[in-house]
Amino acid sequence: MNFIISSIIFIKSKNLILALKIYSILGDEFCLLDVAIIGAGPAGLTAALYAARAGFSAVVFERNIYGGQVASTNEVENYPAVERISGAEFSMNIYNQVIKQGVKILLEEVKDVDLSGNVKKLITDLGEYEAKTIIIATGVKRRKLGCKGEEKFSGRGVSYCATCDGAFFKDKDVAVVGGGNTALEDALFLANICKSVTLLVRKDRVRGEKFLLESVKSRNNIKLRYNTIVNEIGGVGETVSFIKIVDKNLEKEKKIEVSAVFIAIGLEPDNSIFSDAIKLDDSGYVLADESCKTNVAGVFVAGDTRQKNLRQIVTAMSDGAIAANNVTQYLNSQM
Ligand SMILES: Cc1cc2nc3c(=O)[nH]c(=O)nc-3n(C[C@H](O)[C@H](O)[C@H](O)COP(=O)(O)OP(=O)(O)OC[C@H]3O[C@@H](n4cnc5c(N)ncnc54)[C@H](O)[C@@H]3O)c2cc1C
Repeated sequence: MNFIISSIIFIKSKNLILALKIYSILGDEFCLLDVAIIGAGPAGLTAALYAARAGFSAVVFERNIYGGQVASTNEVENYPAVERISGAEFSMNIYNQVIKQGVKILLEEVKDVDLSGNVKKLITDLGEYEAKTIIIATGVKRRKLGCKGEEKFSGRGVSYCATCDGAFFKDKDVAVVGGGNTALEDALFLANICKSVTLLVRKDRVRGEKFLLESVKSRNNIKLRYNTIVNEIGGVGETVSFIKIVDKNLEKEKKIEVSAVFIAIGLEPDNSIFSDAIKLDDSGYVLADESCKTNVAGVFVAGDTRQKNLRQIVTAMSDGAIAANNVTQYLNSQM
């Protein structure tokens, strides 16, 4: 009986089996969430930790894996008091800490939101959830190249994460596209695993750190090509086997045989589901100052997806704590 009432009030699932599943995960106390957090990166998980410790029910929605960008980071060396830690271990540590506080993490992508009323709504493929407040902690995602074949071979030789997928291409010839720190780091990482790495840079110089560039140049199995545009990623059957590139000066297309292409051309926010209600800047970042309050009462933002100058783990976590603290104040003021 309890289940039926909760399900009707809280979860308008597409079918009863799904409603049952969600109820079994969340239980009765989550009929109307105090705070729903979108994104289980450092910002979202820190917000959940603070909210739970303040005595509020918190559920985190994650479309991929918890830890966010950190989960696919090789090593973190600038998190104070932790000299060196792998991204995977860092993510696992926060996850365990948060879970111990009773936070639920649902591996569901939030596909739509309704932020118009006092009760905010979140829609996923499994159903509709209701919460008194929302923290947007959606981070940033890797930018796409937009060339022919990129979509088709995504996950079949086209990758946006060298540390995640590099090992699949041991002793193979691969390409990295990009001219920033991530591209340089990816090239160095892959050079330890793969037979050869061709680093394709669109401009006549790299944007990344000089010491990384020097390391890249010192490696025999990395070939650096400037002024290069990727026209096409192609393959035989299901997997990548070549790319077609154009040298901007020679204007001549060339085909290179590679088994994988790692795209590292920057990051961008993905806040389109909020754009009707929440003010975004021209690049799509959520507009909010250090208070992490958005233009909509009860909706807060934390981490890389907020308009800011420094996007790092410490700043994302700081935002998470501030956003959760403001959730506390908001909820207390509503009582
Ligand atoms: C290769 C690399 C190396 C880095 N190294 C360091 C470092 O050494 N030190 C450092 O301080 N920083 C480093 N950073 C930056 C750091 O990882 C980020 O600043 C930090 O992860 C930001 O945290 P976040 O929680 O704001 O966002 P993210 O980590 O991006 O997490 C956001 C999460 O939200 C999820 N999400 C998005 N939309 C939805 C949706 N609609 N529904 C459900 N879930 C959703 C995403 O899947 C993601 O898991 C690195 C980044 C990269 C890419």
